[in-house]
Amino acid sequence: MPNSTNAILDRAMGALVGGALGDALGMPTQLLSPARIAELYGHVEDFVAPFADHPVSKGLVAGTITDDTEQALLLGRILVESGDRFDHARWVNALLDWEREVKARGSYDLLGPSTKRAIDAINDGVPAEEAGSRGDTNGAAMRIAPVGIMMPLEPLDAFVAKVAETCRATHNTSIAIASAAAVAAAVSRGLAGGDWRTASESAVAAARRGAKLGHWVTGGDIATRIVWAQELVRGKTMKDAIGLITDLVGTGVASQESVPAAFAVLEVANGDPWQAAVISANLGGDTDTIGAIASGMAGACVGFSRLPQQHISRLVGIDIAEVRALAEDLVAARSAKASKDAAA
Ligand SMILES: [Mg+2]
Repeated sequence: MPNSTNAILDRAMGALVGGALGDALGMPTQLLSPARIAELYGHVEDFVAPFADHPVSKGLVAGTITDDTEQALLLGRILVESGDRFDHARWVNALLDWEREVKARGSYDLLGPSTKRAIDAINDGVPAEEAGSRGDTNGAAMRIAPVGIMMPLEPLDAFVAKVAETCRATHNTSIAIASAAAVAAAVSRGLAGGDWRTASESAVAAARRGAKLGHWVTGGDIATRIVWAQELVRGKTMKDAIGLITDLVGTGVASQESVPAAFAVLEVANGDPWQAAVISANLGGDTDTIGAIASGMAGACVGFSRLPQQHISRLVGIDIAEVRALAEDLVAARSAKASKDAAA
């Protein structure tokens, strides 16, 4: 068990930087079919550049992180600045500023469908607290890791309530909250010393709670699909597992596809963050988001010191010192909450 602040901080960094590895490795293959990935790259096992006409990644150099990592770091910062009550207006403004900034950079990888719809609604006068009532895609899950870093997993109701609070403006639906709760719980359990298997168990329990919150929308049950997806690929070769994930679990932007897919990747990778990134990058579909989620959860369970440093040094678009400062603030908030709960 990591009982020192340093060990917890190492795992917090593992979550954030692990996620960045999965994001950057999947950046050039996102939106492609597995056949097109094989045609362009064979099997992706290292950072590669996107092809010249890639719809959203064109122009980025190999190893560049995308919206998944940027929005996770942004959410982390807003969490720290918000204190106990999540500041919805600050969060929405931060997302708007972020999109303006990426447009100015010439990027084509902008806000996802649910976040975009919510921001449009807010611009039309809908209060931030109500704008996410139809957001059901994977944007909340892709950026939720900082909540798992900041919040101790117990009491679970308070944990899931904090996840739901951060989802409200953009992803206030049963399926998106369940998905985000699953990923955040895996991260939080990792910080508490859990391995990827116990982290997956916590994820399923949190997804069950999360599914009771927000506006109900139709879609397969996240907790059930996580268990099913992991069982589906257990003991399979990487090649067979990739086929099962793409053909049966699904790799689309829908929460009920990409989030269980990330947990299946964790299973095939046996909790190894870089393996998780490699498997995700070859899936096709929402490769960068699946990679960010899977490698982030894996990183939370092994820590930054066990991530492949030779790959981290080649990441583009991320300042590791800045990530460390954020991780320190989030871990300090976690410790403060834990001691407050112990005193209560
Ligand atoms: Mg992305």
